Amino acid sequence: MTTESVRAPVALVTGANKGIGLETARRLAEAGYRVYLTARSSERGRPAAGAVGARFLELEVTSEESVRHAADFVAQAEGHLDVLVNNAGITGPVREVRDYTGDDLAEVLLTNVAGYLRVIHAFLPLLEKSDNPRIVNVSSGLGSFSEFHDRIRAGEFSGTPLYAPAKAAINMLTAQLAHLLPGIRVNAADPGMTATDLSQGQGHSVQDGTDAIITLALAGPGGPTGTFIDRNGEHPW
Ligand code: NAP
Repeated sequence: MTTESVRAPVALVTGANKGIGLETARRLAEAGYRVYLTARSSERGRPAAGAVGARFLELEVTSEESVRHAADFVAQAEGHLDVLVNNAGITGPVREVRDYTGDDLAEVLLTNVAGYLRVIHAFLPLLEKSDNPRIVNVSSGLGSFSEFHDRIRAGEFSGTPLYAPAKAAINMLTAQLAHLLPGIRVNAADPGMTATDLSQGQGHSVQDGTDAIITLALAGPGGPTGTFIDRNGEHPW
């Protein structure tokens, strides 16, 4: 192991076997980070990690055991973590509005909200050992009340009654943790509509979709906390 690799800052990305997470891992590795590309499936995650120069680690965000195991591994291997990118997300089932159930919403919240906090909780002791700890929560403009009202006014509303509330919760979780954890910079990023499996291939490139995430992930010690940004700058809450 070279001195350079010993000194490389350490990043971990959830749900990174494809889409925005994979591009985030690639860009962080390119920026000189030692990247833990995590995925719930080793069949999907291991080759993805190999392709972008990252290390693979299995991590299922809905499983306390899996998240704890991943945190223990990074603790042993690195002793600290500089950047955590909470990215793993799902849209949940699509139904007629009257057919959505509490269980449908619980499933989405379990991954998209509880999953983020589960990972933060497990990695917090490692982040606290970094001299520049950052958490980037991948959110969405669909979680913004301001954008919701703009869309209604513009006649562009399309309902996402599970996904949008989950992303609104991530925004508030971000704002809360930024105040409650003053030693750690906690921010939310909106990728914008990005061409991945989640968006059924619609939207801009994954490079564009990761710009805000990378800006927050690479911010120096004087960087922001408690902000919500997209690739053009501050995003209204
Ligand atoms: P994607 O291509 O569908 O990728 C989602 C990733 O999350 C996959 O790697 C998936 O793993 C993983 N994942 C899902 N549930 C998981 C779990 N329980 N544990 C661990 N990993 C899990 O979607 P994407 O577009 O890249 O989305 C990434 C993030 O960006 C999400 O938070 C999404 O809400 C957000 N976002 C996307 C867009 C967009 O237009 N694409 C816009 C705004 C925000 P598997 O392959 O195993 O399923």
